[in-house]
Amino acid sequence: MSDTKFAKKGMTFRKSVEHMVDHAIEIMELDEGIGSALKVCQSVIQISFPVEINGKAEIFTGWRATHSDHRLPSKGGIRYAPIVDQDEVEALAALMTYKCAIVDVPFGGSKGGLVIDPRKYDRNQLEAITRRFARELIGKGYLSPAKNVPAPDMGTGPREMGWMTDTYRRLFPDDINYMGAVTGKPVEHGGVRGRNEATGRGVQYALREFFRHGEEVKNAGLEGSLEGKQVIVQGLGNVGYHAAHFLQTEDDCKIIAIIERDGAVLDPDGLDVDAVFHHMRENGGVKGFPDARFESDGSSILEMECDILIPAALEGVITTDNADRIKAHLIAEAANGPVTFEADKILQKRGVEIIPDAYCNAGGVIVSYFEWIRNLNHVRFGRIDKRFHESRGEHILTAIEMATDSKVPDWLRDQIARGADEFDLVRSGLDDSMRQGMQEIIEKRRSHPKIDDYRMAAFVIAIEKIARSYRDIGF
Ligand code: GLU
Repeated sequence: MSDTKFAKKGMTFRKSVEHMVDHAIEIMELDEGIGSALKVCQSVIQISFPVEINGKAEIFTGWRATHSDHRLPSKGGIRYAPIVDQDEVEALAALMTYKCAIVDVPFGGSKGGLVIDPRKYDRNQLEAITRRFARELIGKGYLSPAKNVPAPDMGTGPREMGWMTDTYRRLFPDDINYMGAVTGKPVEHGGVRGRNEATGRGVQYALREFFRHGEEVKNAGLEGSLEGKQVIVQGLGNVGYHAAHFLQTEDDCKIIAIIERDGAVLDPDGLDVDAVFHHMRENGGVKGFPDARFESDGSSILEMECDILIPAALEGVITTDNADRIKAHLIAEAANGPVTFEADKILQKRGVEIIPDAYCNAGGVIVSYFEWIRNLNHVRFGRIDKRFHESRGEHILTAIEMATDSKVPDWLRDQIARGADEFDLVRSGLDDSMRQGMQEIIEKRRSHPKIDDYRMAAFVIAIEKIARSYRDIGF
C-alpha cells in the first residue's frame, strides 16, 4: 500500500481514478459489461532483480502495468521514485488509456515504476540498473515497438530512454524498427525535436485554448487573455519548468510563486523562471534564491491567491485537508492525479475550475506518438519537403512582386519562403491536438445536461471512444 497522501486519506490513487471513471460511466448510462471491461487493468507485472552496487548486490523492484491494449502499442512512461507501488502504477496506466483517447493518440494505456531514489546513484550505476530493468521488461513482453512502448516520467529522462532503446537493439539487432521501442530518446538517438519540452508546452497550449473561450474564462471568475495572469507552479521538474518558462516568456504571465521540495519562492511582480531553475540546479533547492521571499512551508503556498495554479509535481497534493482553502480560480493539472476525488468535489462546489490531468498533460504522449511515427518511417519530419515548400514560397513571392510592382518586406518574405522543420511540425501538431482536445471538452460540458466540470467531460469523451472500439471489434 502506498505511503502517499491518497493512502493516508483512506483512498488509494487507483480507487480515486476509479471513482472518477465510475461517475462518468453512470452519467453516460453505459452498458455494465463495457464499464467493467474498461475499469480493469489488463495485466501487471512485478519484477525484482539484483544489480551490483559498490561490490554488493542490491535488489530493485519495479512494475509495468498494461491497462488497455485495444490499440497497440500500449503507451506510458516509466517513473523512478522512492515511493512507487503497484497501485500507483495501475492508476497511472488507466490514466494513460483515457489520456490517449481524449487527444486521439491511437495507443493503449500502460505505465511503469521502479522503487529507487535516482539521486543516490551515479551515472554508471543508473545505467546498469536501467539496462537490467529493460532486459527484464523485454524478456517478459513488456517492451517492444509493436506492443509496449515506454517513455520518460518522473525521475527518468532522455538518457534512461536511450539506454533502454540500446538494450532492446542489442537483443533484437534484426528488428529494423528497434528505435520505436521507446520514446523520449535523445535527439541524436532517434528522438524527435520538441519531445523534451512537450508536456510543459502542452500545458501552455491548453491554457491558451482555454483563454480563447471568453465564456469559459468568465465562468472561472477570470477575464481577458493569459497576459499578466498570476500563476503559481508547484514543481520545477521537466514539466513544471517548461510550462512556467513558456508562460512567462511567450504569454507574459507572472509566475508569482514556485513551490519546490525545500520550500517556495515568491515575488508578486513575477519570478524569473530560468534564474530560479538555474539556482535550483546549482543548489539543489529554491532556498537562497536572491530577490525573492522564501517560505519554508511550501504546501501553504498552494493556498495563496492567484489566477492559475499549476500543480506539476506529485499526485495527491490537493486533498480534503486543503481543498477548502485553495484560492486559485483555475487549476491546470500538469501532474497526474494532483487532486483527489473528494477534493475535486469540494473544489467543484466552490467554483474552482480544473483543466484535468488526462487532457492537460497529454502533450508528452502526443509528441511521443510523433516520435514513434518518425521512428517507423525512418525519416526526420520535414526532411523531404522542407526545401520544396521554400522554393514554392519564393515563387509565390516573385509572382506577387511582379504583379504588384512592389517589394514584399523582408520579415514577411522570411515567413513566406520558410519551409517547416521538425521542430515547427511537432509544435504545430501538438498545438492542433491540444486545441481540438479542449474544444471537444468544452463542447461536451456545455451540451451534456449531467456534466458540469471539465474532468467529467474529458472522461466521458474518452470512454465513448474506447467503448466504441470495444463495440466494433470486441474486447
Ligand atoms: N510519462 C508521460 C505521461 O504520463 C508520457 C508518456 C508517453 O509519452 O508515453 O503522459
